[in-house]
Amino acid sequence: MTETAYETTNKFLQDAFDVIGLDKNAEHLLKTPSRQVSVELVIQRDDGSIGNFIGYRVQHDNARGPFKGGLRFSGDVNLDEVRSLASLMTWKTALADVPYGGAKGGIHVDPTELSRSELERLTRRFTECIHEMIGPTTDIPAPDMNTDAGVMAWIFDEYSKHNGFNPAVVTGKPVDLHGSVGREAATGRGCLYAIREVLENDGEGLDGSEFVIQGFGNVGSWAGRLLHDQNAKVKAVSDVHGAIYNENGLDTHAVYDHLKKTGSVVDFPQAEDMANEELLELDCDVLMPAAIGHVITEENADDISADYVLEAANGPCTYKAHHILEDRGVTVVPDIFANAGGVTVSYFEWAQNIQHFSWEEDRVNSELESHMVDAFRTIRGLMNKHDITMRTAAFVAAIQKVREATKQRGLQ
Ligand code: GLU
Repeated sequence: MTETAYETTNKFLQDAFDVIGLDKNAEHLLKTPSRQVSVELVIQRDDGSIGNFIGYRVQHDNARGPFKGGLRFSGDVNLDEVRSLASLMTWKTALADVPYGGAKGGIHVDPTELSRSELERLTRRFTECIHEMIGPTTDIPAPDMNTDAGVMAWIFDEYSKHNGFNPAVVTGKPVDLHGSVGREAATGRGCLYAIREVLENDGEGLDGSEFVIQGFGNVGSWAGRLLHDQNAKVKAVSDVHGAIYNENGLDTHAVYDHLKKTGSVVDFPQAEDMANEELLELDCDVLMPAAIGHVITEENADDISADYVLEAANGPCTYKAHHILEDRGVTVVPDIFANAGGVTVSYFEWAQNIQHFSWEEDRVNSELESHMVDAFRTIRGLMNKHDITMRTAAFVAAIQKVREATKQRGLQ
Protein backbone atom coordinates (compact mmCIF):
# COMPACT_ATOMS: atom_id res chain seq x y z
CA MET A 1 0.00 0.00 0.00
CA THR A 2 1.30 3.46 -0.78
CA GLU A 3 2.22 5.58 2.18
CA THR A 4 0.21 8.74 2.84
CA ALA A 5 1.82 12.13 3.41
CA TYR A 6 0.85 12.12 7.10
CA GLU A 7 2.37 8.65 7.53
CA THR A 8 5.63 9.84 5.94
CA THR A 9 5.87 12.79 8.32
CA ASN A 10 5.12 10.60 11.34
CA LYS A 11 7.77 8.06 10.33
CA PHE A 12 10.36 10.83 10.05
CA LEU A 13 9.24 12.08 13.47
CA GLN A 14 9.57 8.56 14.86
CA ASP A 15 13.20 8.36 13.70
CA ALA A 16 13.86 11.50 15.75
CA PHE A 17 11.79 10.34 18.75
CA ASP A 18 13.96 7.20 18.83
CA VAL A 19 17.10 9.36 19.13
CA ILE A 20 15.58 11.52 21.89
CA GLY A 21 13.90 8.64 23.74
CA LEU A 22 10.44 9.98 24.56
CA ASP A 23 7.61 8.07 26.17
CA LYS A 24 4.69 7.01 23.98
CA ASN A 25 2.27 9.59 25.42
CA ALA A 26 4.65 12.43 24.66
CA GLU A 27 5.12 11.07 21.14
CA HIS A 28 1.36 10.91 20.63
CA LEU A 29 0.95 14.49 21.86
CA LEU A 30 3.63 15.77 19.48
CA LYS A 31 2.31 13.87 16.47
CA THR A 32 -1.39 14.65 16.73
CA PRO A 33 -2.94 17.90 15.45
CA SER A 34 -4.84 20.03 18.00
CA ARG A 35 -7.70 20.90 15.69
CA GLN A 36 -8.77 20.05 12.16
CA VAL A 37 -11.67 21.71 10.43
CA SER A 38 -13.25 20.99 7.07
CA VAL A 39 -15.72 23.39 5.50
CA GLU A 40 -18.06 23.05 2.57
CA LEU A 41 -17.56 26.01 0.24
CA VAL A 42 -20.41 26.90 -2.07
CA ILE A 43 -19.86 29.66 -4.62
CA GLN A 44 -21.59 30.94 -7.68
CA ARG A 45 -19.64 30.16 -10.85
CA ASP A 46 -19.30 32.81 -13.59
CA ASP A 47 -21.91 30.98 -15.70
CA GLY A 48 -24.47 31.19 -12.87
CA SER A 49 -24.15 27.55 -11.78
CA ILE A 50 -23.23 26.46 -8.25
CA GLY A 51 -19.72 25.23 -7.43
CA ASN A 52 -19.00 23.05 -4.36
CA PHE A 53 -15.50 22.72 -2.90
CA ILE A 54 -14.02 21.45 0.35
CA GLY A 55 -11.61 23.56 2.39
CA TYR A 56 -9.46 22.48 5.33
CA ARG A 57 -7.54 24.18 8.11
CA VAL A 58 -5.47 22.00 10.40
CA GLN A 59 -3.86 23.51 13.50
CA HIS A 60 -1.15 21.17 14.65
CA ASP A 61 0.65 22.67 17.65
CA ASN A 62 0.85 26.13 19.28
CA ALA A 63 3.14 25.55 22.25
CA ARG A 64 5.71 28.04 20.88
CA GLY A 65 3.30 30.67 19.51
CA PRO A 66 0.29 31.20 17.25
CA PHE A 67 -0.46 28.55 14.63
CA LYS A 68 1.24 29.48 11.35
CA GLY A 69 1.21 28.07 7.85
CA GLY A 70 0.16 28.48 4.26
CA LEU A 71 -3.01 27.89 2.29
CA ARG A 72 -2.86 25.86 -0.93
CA PHE A 73 -5.19 25.38 -3.86
CA SER A 74 -4.78 22.01 -5.51
CA GLY A 75 -6.73 19.07 -6.82
CA ASP A 76 -4.50 16.87 -4.63
CA VAL A 77 -5.51 18.53 -1.35
CA ASN A 78 -7.07 16.19 1.21
CA LEU A 79 -7.22 16.09 4.99
CA ASP A 80 -4.32 13.64 5.30
CA GLU A 81 -2.02 15.89 3.28
CA VAL A 82 -3.02 19.02 5.21
CA ARG A 83 -2.37 17.20 8.51
CA SER A 84 1.10 16.28 7.29
CA LEU A 85 1.84 19.82 6.11
CA ALA A 86 0.54 21.36 9.37
CA SER A 87 2.84 19.10 11.37
CA LEU A 88 5.82 20.02 9.15
CA MET A 89 5.09 23.70 9.91
CA THR A 90 5.38 23.06 13.68
CA TRP A 91 8.87 21.62 13.20
CA LYS A 92 9.89 24.22 10.59
CA THR A 93 8.99 27.21 12.77
CA ALA A 94 10.80 25.66 15.74
CA LEU A 95 13.93 24.93 13.72
CA ALA A 96 13.92 28.41 12.12
CA ASP A 97 13.44 29.86 15.60
CA VAL A 98 10.41 31.97 14.78
CA PRO A 99 7.77 32.29 17.54
CA TYR A 100 5.01 30.22 16.02
CA GLY A 101 3.41 26.82 16.02
CA GLY A 102 2.29 24.98 12.92
CA ALA A 103 -0.86 24.92 10.77
CA LYS A 104 -1.85 24.46 7.15
CA GLY A 105 -4.90 25.06 5.00
CA GLY A 106 -5.99 23.83 1.65
CA ILE A 107 -8.89 23.95 -0.75
CA HIS A 108 -9.51 20.94 -2.97
CA VAL A 109 -9.72 22.77 -6.30
CA ASP A 110 -7.84 22.82 -9.58
CA PRO A 111 -7.21 26.58 -9.78
CA THR A 112 -6.67 26.45 -13.55
CA GLU A 113 -10.35 25.57 -13.92
CA LEU A 114 -11.57 28.69 -12.12
CA SER A 115 -11.49 32.31 -13.25
CA ARG A 116 -9.72 34.88 -11.07
CA SER A 117 -13.09 36.18 -9.83
CA GLU A 118 -14.27 32.64 -9.00
CA LEU A 119 -11.05 32.12 -7.02
CA GLU A 120 -11.72 35.39 -5.21
CA ARG A 121 -15.24 34.27 -4.24
CA LEU A 122 -13.85 30.93 -3.10
CA THR A 123 -11.12 32.55 -0.98
CA ARG A 124 -13.57 34.99 0.59
CA ARG A 125 -16.03 32.20 1.35
CA PHE A 126 -13.25 30.13 2.95
CA THR A 127 -12.13 33.12 5.05
CA GLU A 128 -15.71 33.74 6.16
CA CYS A 129 -15.98 30.09 7.25
CA ILE A 130 -12.74 30.07 9.26
CA HIS A 131 -12.47 33.72 10.38
CA GLU A 132 -13.13 32.81 14.00
CA MET A 133 -10.21 30.39 14.12
CA ILE A 134 -7.62 32.68 12.49
CA GLY A 135 -6.17 35.97 13.75
CA PRO A 136 -2.84 37.73 14.38
CA THR A 137 -2.35 35.98 17.73
CA THR A 138 -4.13 32.71 16.96
CA ASP A 139 -3.46 31.43 13.44
CA ILE A 140 -1.82 33.29 10.56
CA PRO A 141 -2.22 31.95 7.00
CA ALA A 142 0.26 32.64 4.17
CA PRO A 143 0.79 31.66 0.51
CA ASP A 144 1.57 28.10 -0.50
CA MET A 145 1.06 26.08 -3.70
CA ASN A 146 -1.04 28.07 -6.24
CA THR A 147 -1.81 30.92 -3.85
CA ASP A 148 -0.09 34.31 -4.03
CA ALA A 149 -0.05 37.83 -2.60
CA GLY A 150 -3.36 38.61 -4.32
CA VAL A 151 -5.08 35.72 -2.53
CA MET A 152 -3.62 36.95 0.78
CA ALA A 153 -5.03 40.43 0.07
CA TRP A 154 -8.53 38.90 -0.25
CA ILE A 155 -8.10 37.04 3.06
CA PHE A 156 -6.95 40.26 4.75
CA ASP A 157 -9.88 42.20 3.30
CA GLU A 158 -12.50 39.57 4.17
CA TYR A 159 -11.12 39.09 7.69
CA SER A 160 -11.22 42.87 8.21
CA LYS A 161 -14.97 42.92 7.47
CA HIS A 162 -15.57 40.61 10.42
CA ASN A 163 -12.82 41.68 12.82
CA GLY A 164 -11.65 45.18 11.87
CA PHE A 165 -8.35 46.30 10.33
CA ASN A 166 -5.55 43.94 11.20
CA PRO A 167 -3.05 43.14 8.45
CA ALA A 168 -1.03 40.82 10.73
CA VAL A 169 -3.76 38.18 10.28
CA VAL A 170 -2.05 36.95 7.13
CA THR A 171 1.47 37.17 5.66
CA GLY A 172 2.76 37.16 2.09
CA LYS A 173 0.53 40.17 1.28
CA PRO A 174 1.31 42.55 -1.60
CA VAL A 175 4.10 44.96 -0.66
CA ASP A 176 1.71 47.89 -1.22
CA LEU A 177 -0.84 46.35 1.14
CA HIS A 178 1.20 45.83 4.33
CA GLY A 179 3.36 43.06 2.83
CA SER A 180 7.13 42.90 3.26
CA VAL A 181 9.83 43.47 0.70
CA GLY A 182 11.72 40.23 0.17
CA ARG A 183 8.80 37.95 1.17
CA GLU A 184 8.01 36.73 -2.35
CA ALA A 185 11.62 35.63 -2.94
CA ALA A 186 12.15 34.41 0.62
CA THR A 187 11.58 30.66 0.24
CA GLY A 188 13.86 30.48 -2.82
CA ARG A 189 16.45 32.69 -1.14
CA GLY A 190 16.33 30.51 1.98
CA CYS A 191 17.00 27.45 -0.23
CA LEU A 192 20.07 29.21 -1.58
CA TYR A 193 21.40 29.95 1.93
CA ALA A 194 20.62 26.38 3.03
CA ILE A 195 22.49 24.66 0.21
CA ARG A 196 25.36 27.17 0.41
CA GLU A 197 25.90 26.26 4.07
CA VAL A 198 25.71 22.52 3.32
CA LEU A 199 28.12 22.71 0.38
CA GLU A 200 30.62 24.92 2.21
CA ASN A 201 30.56 22.58 5.18
CA ASP A 202 31.55 19.79 2.77
CA GLY A 203 34.40 21.89 1.35
CA GLU A 204 32.50 22.86 -1.79
CA GLY A 205 30.64 25.98 -2.92
CA LEU A 206 27.84 27.34 -5.09
CA ASP A 207 30.17 28.65 -7.80
CA GLY A 208 30.11 26.14 -10.67
CA SER A 209 27.88 23.62 -8.86
CA GLU A 210 25.32 21.96 -11.12
CA PHE A 211 21.64 22.19 -10.21
CA VAL A 212 18.49 20.57 -11.59
CA ILE A 213 15.18 22.10 -10.48
CA GLN A 214 11.85 20.29 -10.66
CA GLY A 215 9.12 22.94 -10.63
CA PHE A 216 9.45 26.58 -11.70
CA GLY A 217 6.75 28.17 -9.56
CA ASN A 218 7.46 30.76 -6.87
CA VAL A 219 10.12 28.74 -5.03
CA GLY A 220 11.83 27.06 -8.00
CA SER A 221 11.95 30.18 -10.14
CA TRP A 222 13.33 32.41 -7.38
CA ALA A 223 15.90 29.83 -6.34
CA GLY A 224 16.85 29.28 -9.99
CA ARG A 225 17.38 32.98 -10.61
CA LEU A 226 19.29 33.57 -7.37
CA LEU A 227 21.50 30.52 -7.99
CA HIS A 228 22.32 31.78 -11.48
CA ASP A 229 23.37 35.11 -9.92
CA GLN A 230 25.80 33.17 -7.69
CA ASN A 231 27.41 31.47 -10.73
CA ALA A 232 25.81 28.12 -10.03
CA LYS A 233 24.91 26.22 -13.21
CA VAL A 234 21.19 25.42 -13.49
CA LYS A 235 21.21 22.67 -16.14
CA ALA A 236 17.52 21.81 -16.26
CA VAL A 237 14.16 23.01 -14.98
CA SER A 238 10.60 21.78 -15.43
CA ASP A 239 6.96 22.63 -14.92
CA VAL A 240 3.75 20.60 -15.35
CA HIS A 241 4.06 20.84 -19.14
CA GLY A 242 7.59 19.39 -19.42
CA ALA A 243 11.29 19.95 -18.80
CA ILE A 244 14.09 21.88 -20.55
CA TYR A 245 17.81 21.12 -20.51
CA ASN A 246 21.05 22.82 -21.46
CA GLU A 247 24.34 21.10 -20.57
CA ASN A 248 26.09 24.51 -20.34
CA GLY A 249 23.51 25.95 -17.97
CA LEU A 250 20.29 27.91 -18.49
CA ASP A 251 19.94 31.66 -18.19
CA THR A 252 17.19 31.30 -15.60
CA HIS A 253 16.19 34.97 -15.83
CA ALA A 254 15.49 34.46 -19.54
CA VAL A 255 13.63 31.21 -18.76
CA TYR A 256 11.48 33.15 -16.30
CA ASP A 257 10.68 35.79 -18.96
CA HIS A 258 9.81 32.99 -21.40
CA LEU A 259 7.49 31.43 -18.80
CA LYS A 260 5.74 34.77 -18.20
CA LYS A 261 5.28 35.23 -21.95
CA THR A 262 4.18 31.71 -22.95
CA GLY A 263 2.83 30.16 -19.74
CA SER A 264 5.47 27.41 -19.65
CA VAL A 265 9.22 26.80 -19.56
CA VAL A 266 8.83 24.36 -22.48
CA ASP A 267 10.16 25.45 -25.90
CA PHE A 268 12.66 27.86 -24.36
CA PRO A 269 14.89 28.67 -27.37
CA GLN A 270 18.31 28.04 -25.76
CA ALA A 271 17.48 24.54 -24.48
CA GLU A 272 16.31 21.07 -25.50
CA ASP A 273 12.91 19.86 -24.35
CA MET A 274 12.97 16.76 -22.17
CA ALA A 275 10.44 14.46 -20.46
CA ASN A 276 9.67 15.29 -16.82
CA GLU A 277 10.66 11.79 -15.59
CA GLU A 278 14.15 12.09 -17.14
CA LEU A 279 14.83 15.35 -15.31
CA LEU A 280 14.89 13.73 -11.85
CA GLU A 281 17.56 11.27 -12.98
CA LEU A 282 19.94 13.81 -14.54
CA ASP A 283 23.56 13.86 -13.46
CA CYS A 284 24.10 16.95 -11.26
CA ASP A 285 25.40 18.04 -7.87
CA VAL A 286 22.07 19.19 -6.47
CA LEU A 287 18.60 18.01 -7.40
CA MET A 288 15.98 20.40 -6.14
CA PRO A 289 12.39 19.09 -6.08
CA ALA A 290 10.36 22.32 -5.85
CA ALA A 291 6.93 21.13 -6.90
CA ILE A 292 4.72 18.59 -5.16
CA GLY A 293 4.97 15.86 -2.52
CA HIS A 294 6.13 12.24 -2.96
CA VAL A 295 7.97 12.67 -6.27
CA ILE A 296 10.96 10.62 -5.07
CA THR A 297 9.79 7.16 -4.07
CA GLU A 298 11.27 3.68 -3.68
CA GLU A 299 10.58 3.28 -7.43
CA ASN A 300 13.01 5.98 -8.58
CA ALA A 301 15.29 6.68 -5.56
CA ASP A 302 17.95 4.32 -6.96
CA ASP A 303 18.01 6.28 -10.23
CA ILE A 304 18.74 9.67 -8.67
CA SER A 305 22.24 10.69 -9.80
CA ALA A 306 22.61 13.86 -7.70
CA ASP A 307 24.90 14.09 -4.65
CA TYR A 308 22.39 16.26 -2.77
CA VAL A 309 18.60 16.42 -2.79
CA LEU A 310 17.47 19.88 -1.65
CA GLU A 311 13.82 19.63 -0.57
CA ALA A 312 12.42 22.98 -1.68
CA ALA A 313 8.91 21.47 -1.80
CA ASN A 314 7.24 20.07 1.29
CA GLY A 315 7.48 16.28 1.55
CA PRO A 316 9.00 15.42 -1.86
CA CYS A 317 10.58 12.15 -0.61
CA THR A 318 8.73 9.17 0.82
CA TYR A 319 10.16 7.58 3.96
CA LYS A 320 11.67 4.67 2.04
CA ALA A 321 13.07 6.93 -0.68
CA HIS A 322 14.78 9.08 1.95
CA HIS A 323 16.51 6.02 3.42
CA ILE A 324 17.47 4.61 0.01
CA LEU A 325 19.06 7.96 -0.88
CA GLU A 326 20.92 8.29 2.42
CA ASP A 327 22.14 4.66 2.21
CA ARG A 328 23.50 5.42 -1.26
CA GLY A 329 25.42 8.40 0.12
CA VAL A 330 23.07 11.06 -1.25
CA THR A 331 22.62 13.86 1.30
CA VAL A 332 19.01 14.92 1.71
CA VAL A 333 18.61 18.53 2.85
CA PRO A 334 15.20 18.24 4.54
CA ASP A 335 12.20 20.44 3.76
CA ILE A 336 11.80 21.77 7.30
CA PHE A 337 15.23 23.37 6.91
CA ALA A 338 15.55 23.88 3.14
CA ASN A 339 12.29 25.80 2.65
CA ALA A 340 12.10 27.55 6.04
CA GLY A 341 12.95 30.91 4.45
CA GLY A 342 9.31 31.60 3.57
CA VAL A 343 7.92 31.39 7.07
CA THR A 344 10.97 33.19 8.45
CA VAL A 345 10.24 36.26 6.33
CA SER A 346 6.53 35.82 7.11
CA TYR A 347 7.57 36.37 10.70
CA PHE A 348 9.40 39.57 9.70
CA GLU A 349 6.28 40.75 7.85
CA TRP A 350 4.07 40.02 10.88
CA ALA A 351 6.52 41.82 13.18
CA GLN A 352 6.56 44.85 10.82
CA ASN A 353 2.73 44.89 10.77
CA ILE A 354 2.51 44.78 14.55
CA GLN A 355 5.09 47.57 14.89
CA HIS A 356 3.59 49.63 12.01
CA PHE A 357 7.12 49.95 10.68
CA SER A 358 8.76 48.80 7.42
CA TRP A 359 12.17 47.25 6.98
CA GLU A 360 14.55 47.74 4.04
CA GLU A 361 15.16 44.68 1.85
CA ASP A 362 18.80 44.37 2.97
CA ARG A 363 17.67 43.95 6.55
CA VAL A 364 15.09 41.31 5.59
CA ASN A 365 17.65 39.33 3.61
CA SER A 366 20.43 39.52 6.14
CA GLU A 367 18.17 38.53 9.05
CA LEU A 368 16.85 35.66 6.92
CA GLU A 369 20.43 34.60 6.29
CA SER A 370 21.24 34.52 10.00
CA HIS A 371 18.17 32.39 10.80
CA MET A 372 19.18 29.90 8.08
CA VAL A 373 22.85 29.83 9.13
CA ASP A 374 21.92 29.35 12.80
CA ALA A 375 19.52 26.51 11.90
CA PHE A 376 22.26 24.79 9.93
CA ARG A 377 24.74 25.11 12.83
CA THR A 378 22.20 23.53 15.18
CA ILE A 379 21.58 20.69 12.71
CA ARG A 380 25.28 20.10 12.13
CA GLY A 381 25.95 19.95 15.88
CA LEU A 382 23.30 17.27 16.34
CA MET A 383 24.46 15.30 13.27
CA ASN A 384 27.94 15.11 14.74
CA LYS A 385 26.75 14.36 18.26
CA HIS A 386 24.40 11.49 17.37
CA ASP A 387 25.74 10.38 13.96
CA ILE A 388 22.34 10.91 12.32
CA THR A 389 21.05 12.21 9.00
CA MET A 390 20.38 15.88 8.40
CA ARG A 391 16.64 15.19 8.44
CA THR A 392 16.68 13.40 11.77
CA ALA A 393 18.91 16.10 13.25
CA ALA A 394 16.52 18.83 12.04
CA PHE A 395 13.57 17.00 13.63
CA VAL A 396 15.48 16.35 16.88
CA ALA A 397 16.29 20.07 17.19
CA ALA A 398 12.70 21.08 16.49
CA ILE A 399 11.09 18.47 18.73
CA GLN A 400 13.31 19.42 21.64
CA LYS A 401 12.22 23.05 21.37
CA VAL A 402 8.52 22.24 21.11
CA ARG A 403 8.77 19.68 23.91
CA GLU A 404 10.51 22.20 26.17
CA ALA A 405 7.86 24.86 25.47
CA THR A 406 5.10 22.33 26.14
CA LYS A 407 6.67 21.32 29.45
CA GLN A 408 7.30 24.91 30.54
CA ARG A 409 3.72 25.93 29.85
CA GLY A 410 2.41 22.85 31.69
CA LEU A 411 -0.14 20.40 30.45
CA GLN A 412 -3.71 21.52 31.09
N1 GLU B 1 3.74 27.92 2.75
C1 GLU B 1 5.07 28.18 3.21
C2 GLU B 1 5.65 26.95 3.87
O1 GLU B 1 5.26 25.84 3.60
C3 GLU B 1 5.14 29.44 4.07
C4 GLU B 1 4.30 29.42 5.30
C5 GLU B 1 4.21 30.76 6.01
O2 GLU B 1 4.84 31.70 5.59
O3 GLU B 1 3.48 30.80 7.01
O4 GLU B 1 6.58 27.03 4.63
